[in-house]
Amino acid sequence: MAQPKYSTHLGMVDILPDEIRKWQFLENLIREEAHKFNFEEIRTPIMEQTELIVRGLGQLTDIVSKEIFAFSRGDDNYVLRPELTAPVVRAYVENHLDQRGGSQKLYYIGPMFRAERPQKGRQRQFHQFGVEVIGSSDAVSDVEVIAFMIHIYHKIGITNTTLKLNSIGDPDSREAYKDALRTYLKPNYEKLSEISKKRFEKNPLRILDSKEEEDQPLIENAPLITDYLNEESVSHYSRVKEYLTDLGISFEEDPYLVRGMDYYTQTAFELISPDLGAQDALAGGGRYDLLIEEIGGQPTPAVGFAAGIERLFIACEELGIDLGGEKEVDVYIVTLGDHARRWGLKQLPKLREKGVSATMDYMGRSMKAQMKDANRENARYAIIVGENELNEGKFTFRDMKESKEEALSFEEISNLLAEQSA
Ligand code: AMP
Repeated sequence: MAQPKYSTHLGMVDILPDEIRKWQFLENLIREEAHKFNFEEIRTPIMEQTELIVRGLGQLTDIVSKEIFAFSRGDDNYVLRPELTAPVVRAYVENHLDQRGGSQKLYYIGPMFRAERPQKGRQRQFHQFGVEVIGSSDAVSDVEVIAFMIHIYHKIGITNTTLKLNSIGDPDSREAYKDALRTYLKPNYEKLSEISKKRFEKNPLRILDSKEEEDQPLIENAPLITDYLNEESVSHYSRVKEYLTDLGISFEEDPYLVRGMDYYTQTAFELISPDLGAQDALAGGGRYDLLIEEIGGQPTPAVGFAAGIERLFIACEELGIDLGGEKEVDVYIVTLGDHARRWGLKQLPKLREKGVSATMDYMGRSMKAQMKDANRENARYAIIVGENELNEGKFTFRDMKESKEEALSFEEISNLLAEQSA
């Protein structure tokens, strides 16, 4: 085969018709289940102002410092959205969604962009679904968000997962902990990796998240955030754990879990799968009570998660779960001659009107080739039409699976098909 002249960018892939069914299945499932939780969908633009993402996520995060796709046009600076929490919060503030009353329970599905080094489970354009509940500080909202996340994986059959849970406290607890962490790290400052040195002053918590080898021995003996939580933070964390237990959702506490973005407060969580290999995080999230104010809104508590769709599919593959099923069409009209072909074209809308999926040959092929095509298209039935059939008003109705045929009127056929697909 000739080498194609153009290709997708590194880390970006086409989703082809043979794979699309699993995407559609998952997206439908998410929408149905979100409806049961009374979450409403929100869709925001693919591009956002650079400043929103920088402020929202934090200058020193990996995403902002290394991974954003950014460009400018005239005086405007754009980024391809690397995640959706900051954009959803921007939409909440910009559109005064607080005026709808109560807490806003939002969900999304869509593509995100990060210029990471591609590997299995890591792409530059990838897809997430997620939930943001804005306006509630109650642990009920943390737990409903986590419950929804786990519910989706369970519905699909991915049950071999671990929910890791931590609290990084409210701003007061975090300040106390940051001080303790700096005091502990200071004598070993020179041993820290370059990136951790940069984080030392402004956000030493992120050092705990470091993957750099030289940081690991220091991280192992670091003080634990859980020892620095104030009463309010302890009480919120305890309620989250109690409510999770009430729902029968098991979790593993991980005092080193801090998550990538700066806007998190209190609850932090991650869903890990042993079926994923090196990139083992299926989803992650937490509470971000500081973000809304940070980007110009009124102080408003919020909690959410984001889940990687490609990683969910990798887990499915490993577990032998087939979400897509076979391509199929209810009926294929096989025609002989121009007269029959025009008749077939006119019957298609009538069948579709009755909820039947129907197709015919577009290539002017022989009857034999059309039968082959009907098989390839996985047609459940075929209607075979030639001049004789048209004259008699009786058509060969073939059950492709059972290889059985009978002669029926078009009305009889369309009623049968409508019944089958009802
Ligand atoms: P984050 O927004 O970084 O908390 O990521 C949430 C989830 O999105 C992760 O747990 C992954 O499942 C998925 N994810 C993040 N980055 C990528 C990527 N570059 N490629 C594929 N999936 C990703």
